Amino acid sequence: MIKLAVLGNPIAHSRSPEIHGLFARQFGIALTYQKVLVPEGGLALAVGELIRQGARGCNITVPFKSQALALCDEVKGDAIGLGVINTLDFAASGAVYGYNTDALGLITDLKDHLQQTIQDRSVLLIGAGGAAQGVVPALLREAPKTLHVWNRTPQRAEQLIRLAPSSRLAAKTLEQLDTQYDLIINASSAGLNGSAPDLPSRIIGANSFCYDLSYSDSETPFLQWASGLGAAHRADGFGMLIEQAAAAFRIWFGVSPDTAMVRTEMLS
Ligand code: NAP
Repeated sequence: MIKLAVLGNPIAHSRSPEIHGLFARQFGIALTYQKVLVPEGGLALAVGELIRQGARGCNITVPFKSQALALCDEVKGDAIGLGVINTLDFAASGAVYGYNTDALGLITDLKDHLQQTIQDRSVLLIGAGGAAQGVVPALLREAPKTLHVWNRTPQRAEQLIRLAPSSRLAAKTLEQLDTQYDLIINASSAGLNGSAPDLPSRIIGANSFCYDLSYSDSETPFLQWASGLGAAHRADGFGMLIEQAAAAFRIWFGVSPDTAMVRTEMLS
């Protein structure tokens, strides 16, 4: 039985075990995928324990994506230069390889599933934590007209934009935010506490597409807030979760799961 896990805090909300279970079924792979609640400062210990148990790898979620970098012997693929890791691959040699599949997950969900273009659109990214850091370069590669970053702690937004210098990218205070962004992406973890970031209503227009990396069975607080302001087009991060998981599954097993099938199965 192949052992996998997702490490985070909080972790109870995670649907990754179900997703990887359905992927595994598509290929007849026998695996266990557990949720591990990691205390603050406990990531290295938790990863070491998984390796000791012979696990194949793990996913890393809030708030440990930056800390996971220090546990990698080598950083691979999209994670090179990113500073944040969401997938660890434990090689038979004993090496730990670090990857980041969040950006691929987000862009695939936005473009392929939700038919959203990013090119030439005004984009607002809310948050400057591990998830936001992981998606900024990929969003810039899509050539938005502007990519503004707002974070509750402004210094972190300033730090984030210095990692990917671009004339299109800017950190903004609440007062500096534009009106009616074309695309608003909430990459804050406010939803995990049942709240929405405290933002001015002018950022939303009827045609703003509002995307929340958080996901839940009912509409997330951020999407409820956007809906109340007339944003007709909204989506949560469940599609991203499935796509980033598929990319991790490819890293571990070298096969590409059918994500549409899993989305249908889990939403039915
Ligand atoms: P993180 O590294 O802990 O960062 C949290 C971010 O949220 C920080 O920017 C923090 O601001 C901000 N924040 C927290 N509470 C807030 C509040 N009440 N109001 C405004 N901002 C607040 O977490 P992360 O790894 O970036 O994850 C962020 C979220 O994305 C989580 O909900 C996670 O589940 C979700 N996510 C989803 C997927 C997916 O596949 N759907 C993938 C990755 C992440 P400060 O800097 O001021 O603390």
